[in-house]
Amino acid sequence: MAETITTRSEDETVAFARRFALRLQPGTVVLLCGDLGAGKTTFVRGLALGLGLDPEAVSSPTFTLIQEYRGPRSLFHVDLYRLQGAEVEDLGLEELAAGNAIVAIEWAEKLREIPAGAIEVRFEDRGEDVRNITVDLGP
Ligand code: ADP
Ligand code: MG
Repeated sequence: MAETITTRSEDETVAFARRFALRLQPGTVVLLCGDLGAGKTTFVRGLALGLGLDPEAVSSPTFTLIQEYRGPRSLFHVDLYRLQGAEVEDLGLEELAAGNAIVAIEWAEKLREIPAGAIEVRFEDRGEDVRNITVDLGP
């Protein structure tokens, strides 16, 4: 089952992600797919907001692969952009997902195995400030 919405500004994407976060069960893995600049990190900022965390703390991790934002509902922010092939397997993502935190993974198309119960969110840049965001809840 998939559902697509269109946002027309960064703020709209943040607001959408904030509402989306409110529906997530603890321990949910959110797979973020789409090109550079499509809005994945922006979406994670909205997730942080929805989880009661500081959205300002969320950035594109340059050297850190995994960032943890702690709070009543914690968030792991993973960016696979710089990883190749088998490197992706060595991150221990299963362990992250075994806890109660939400795990948001940018460049999730690099994963060879999709974690069970993961929700896929795809971002498409439609030009200027328009983005299509498709939420796929799986089969
Ligand atoms: P990614 O993590 O996918 O590379 P970012 O979230 O870091 O993308 O960057 C998205 C860029 O696009 C930001 O500069 C943001 O201001 C801009 N932008 C413009 N319109 C939107 C929108 N509707 N949703 C999200 N970001 C948008
Ligand atoms: Mg990013």
